[in-house]
Amino acid sequence: MIINHVELWGECLEIIKRSINQQSYKTWFEPVNPIKFQNQILTIQVPNKFFYEWLEEHYVNILKTAIKKVIGEEGRLEYQILIENHRQIGKNEAVIKEQHKAAEIKNPFVIPGIKKSKVESHLNPNYTFDNFIEGDCNRLARSAGKAIASRPGKTAFNPLMVYGDVGLGKTHLAHAIGNEIKKNFAKTQVLYVTTEKFTTHVIDSIKSNSLSDFMIFYQMIDVLIIDDIQFLANKAKTQEIFFNIFNELHQSGKQIILTSDRPPKDLQDVENRLISRFKWGLSADLSAPDFETRMAIFDKKVEHEGINVNDEVAEFICYNIQNNIRELEGALISLIAQSTLNRKHIDVNLAKDVIKQFVSQSNKEISIENIKKLVADHFSLPVEKLQGKTRKRDVVIARQLSMYLAKNYTTSSLKNIGQKFGNRDHSTVIYSLQAVRDMMDTDLIFKDTVQELEKKVQMKLYD
Ligand code: ADP
Ligand code: MG
Repeated sequence: MIINHVELWGECLEIIKRSINQQSYKTWFEPVNPIKFQNQILTIQVPNKFFYEWLEEHYVNILKTAIKKVIGEEGRLEYQILIENHRQIGKNEAVIKEQHKAAEIKNPFVIPGIKKSKVESHLNPNYTFDNFIEGDCNRLARSAGKAIASRPGKTAFNPLMVYGDVGLGKTHLAHAIGNEIKKNFAKTQVLYVTTEKFTTHVIDSIKSNSLSDFMIFYQMIDVLIIDDIQFLANKAKTQEIFFNIFNELHQSGKQIILTSDRPPKDLQDVENRLISRFKWGLSADLSAPDFETRMAIFDKKVEHEGINVNDEVAEFICYNIQNNIRELEGALISLIAQSTLNRKHIDVNLAKDVIKQFVSQSNKEISIENIKKLVADHFSLPVEKLQGKTRKRDVVIARQLSMYLAKNYTTSSLKNIGQKFGNRDHSTVIYSLQAVRDMMDTDLIFKDTVQELEKKVQMKLYD
């Protein structure tokens, strides 16, 4: 038996590591130190109060699970908060102690098929429609979900298949539908299960000869939500059992909601009879959100964290993280962590540091090619025109502006810039820079354009 606090905490960390992403693990668990283990109480030390609150708010269940597994039912966790000015370990710490019991964890399969009222939904109450921001990227799936929530099993959307790349909100939406159904119809039996868990349960019930209990259990469900069904691939027995459950439920007018990282037709190594059933209802995709939607989502998360992030920082992050909402959240979490741990103000510079972990292009040098592309896009011109001979006014302005940005944001010499713009000589470049400055003095709209492009170059908002 382990009784040493360091080892105990080490075991807990192993469990925690498996349940959360690496970024969050590094940010929130690596800085924690185990202090002692006494009377079944494991004491851990966290850097400050904010840290403690964050752990309690976001990771309490994971912590409970880990403590219970490692120490047992009686296990308790206490926090010590390092007083910020006295860094010695010993007398000066422990201003606040918090204690909580390792709560019971319900397993829907403990008493399979017996007590109907005992079905635990396994829904995450934090994932609701209220905090699922609507945008073009999710409109169809979201409204189908809403419709289902008001009439589960009775719409044409059965099954509802939500698919899309990782981090775009499939799991959130699936829980939101489940939560809303429970709100609308308290007696409805909703079950959320990941495909992995479903598979494990199939295997366990085969091993323990309780497959029929397993099937009975599933027949009690009114709304079955299965997440990430791409993991059914190559699992013939699980597919067969799922096929039977699907048919039973569907025939009895029960609602089925599935998510997948790809559309049904692209599911590999999943039987055709299943795939064709997945297509019976509605397949709706979640795509990457546009800038405005990302800003709205980001704002919502900021509001939820109860902190202040100015528009410039929000824009910077939302411009740079485009394809994954989970990363957007990750960036916010890192930002908060960096700012509290290092006592730094949340500003664009801090955001830049944080973003580096997420977006590789932030590390790249700005090149003349990047600038050309940005300017050409802005003026809707082909890049070639910038290095061509045209003397048309709009092209000339775009060309001069590109040279101006190249001079200010790259280390290229005048000569080099000239060469890159159709072999012009360095005096042409000097003339262009002056022309841009003059125009900025006299034309405010032009000045705005220049500033907007400068901002984009600084933020490296080019492909
Ligand atoms: P997926 O299951 O597609 O990988 P998740 O549902 O886990 O993605 O979403 C990743 C994160 O992004 C979650 O924390 C979720 O709350 C958030 N998220 C996704 N879409 C939205 C949205 N439309 N509004 C608010 N948050 C969202
Ligand atoms: Mg998911």
